[in-house]
Amino acid sequence: MYVDHTLEMWMFFDVYGSTQAIRTCGIVDTVISPTPPPPSIERQLARLELPSEPSEPVVLHDPDECKVCMERRVDCVLTPCGHVVLCYECAFEIKTNGQNCPICRSQIGFVTKMYRA
Ligand SMILES: [Zn+2]
Ligand SMILES: [Zn+2]
Repeated sequence: MYVDHTLEMWMFFDVYGSTQAIRTCGIVDTVISPTPPPPSIERQLARLELPSEPSEPVVLHDPDECKVCMERRVDCVLTPCGHVVLCYECAFEIKTNGQNCPICRSQIGFVTKMYRA
């Protein structure tokens, strides 16, 4: 469990009929601190040891990159599902071949070219 220690913790007590906010002073911290480090770090270490795709360099893919050809920029909208993941050339080819949206498998009604300004 991740606890944001920068947030102030408040506990509410009903004191003699009038509700008052009482700030906790380190009680929450002392309870949580003995827990081991978050499991996400261990998972990251485990992933580093996995020999998955060692030849492929770690490159952050451009989100604007076409998910099919990985060359051209995404510049069209698949209708009606609305996914914007393909370049016009690939989208047109997929639609022509009678294939569906590669993301949601919806049938592609038509492909709308986008023009970025
Ligand atoms: Zn493409
Ligand atoms: Zn889709």
